[in-house]
Amino acid sequence: AKSDHRHSMQLFSAEMNRRAQERASLERALQQALSERSLTLHYQPQVLSSSPGTLHGVEALARWNHPQWGMVPPSQFIPVAEDAGLIHELTLWLLDEACRQLAAWRAAGHDVPCVAVNLSGRSFHRPEFSQEIGDALQRHGLRTSDVLLEITESVMMDARPVTLKNIEALHHQGFKLSLDDFGTGYSSLSYLHRLPISELKLDMAFVQDLTTSATARALTVSVLSIAHSLGMVVVAEGVETTGQQQWLQAHGCPVMQGYLFGKPLPPDEIEAWLCAQAP
Ligand code: C2E
Ligand code: CA
Ligand code: CA
Ligand code: CA
Repeated sequence: AKSDHRHSMQLFSAEMNRRAQERASLERALQQALSERSLTLHYQPQVLSSSPGTLHGVEALARWNHPQWGMVPPSQFIPVAEDAGLIHELTLWLLDEACRQLAAWRAAGHDVPCVAVNLSGRSFHRPEFSQEIGDALQRHGLRTSDVLLEITESVMMDARPVTLKNIEALHHQGFKLSLDDFGTGYSSLSYLHRLPISELKLDMAFVQDLTTSATARALTVSVLSIAHSLGMVVVAEGVETTGQQQWLQAHGCPVMQGYLFGKPLPPDEIEAWLCAQAP
């Protein structure tokens, strides 16, 4: 038994070692991708419930196509970027790219109302963050209403003065904040009216349970009602079926996003999507 135990300890540390090496090589490759500017953005349509051919906006989502490993999902490389201190550079670069793309679409006559970008909570610890975001817009001649900033509940719960200062400075500049993955985190409703949130993104876990779970339906009804009374827009995420679409529309959800309307697409396919919807 004793030698069994020793054997499993050795396996355990071999596994730890393998994981640490995997992480280190992911980190090196990500660092390289950043310096070569080889990440890209895909854009997912967000449509009006009342008119699913009309854009509310598009969400910019990071993509990494590694020469050997192929597509690395953001759920894998964003946490690595956060731990390795690379997230800030990544965020500012992708923000700049999203702004450049929006300006290019408009110059080509495409009607894209705004682009939503995902911000990591880590970036809010930098005192200059709100200023850097404003600078990116200015470089591309955009206004604060052109870019929606998606943050998560962890940012809302972060009591650091520097985080609050950034949130207030962004609000003061005229930016709109969107609360991502709503309903999955701490879900304290008390900060909703204390902080300048103008949009809630209902997490896809709720949306995908709508047709099977009375609890998911009850929670969604109350989120829609709270948002409505606070003057916030709700975006339902992960809408995949017409059953979900019909339920959400009947219950007054104004904006939807999901595979039913469009997957995250490279910029040229967004243009094709727009042309296909044109009356
Ligand atoms: P998220 O911000 O909640 O983004 C929505 C995710 O749901 C995306 O996954 C999108 O492709 C996926 N999705 C959209 N519609 C559907 C649907 O109908 N069905 C299903 N099953 N999935 C759908 P993706 O692109 O893999 O991104 C995963 C997460 O990675 C994002 O979740 C976000 O938290 C993070 N992420 C992506 N890009 C960035 C970025 O540029 N910066 C930061 N900080 N995080 C990012
Ligand atoms: Ca998001
Ligand atoms: Ca989300
Ligand atoms: Ca998410």
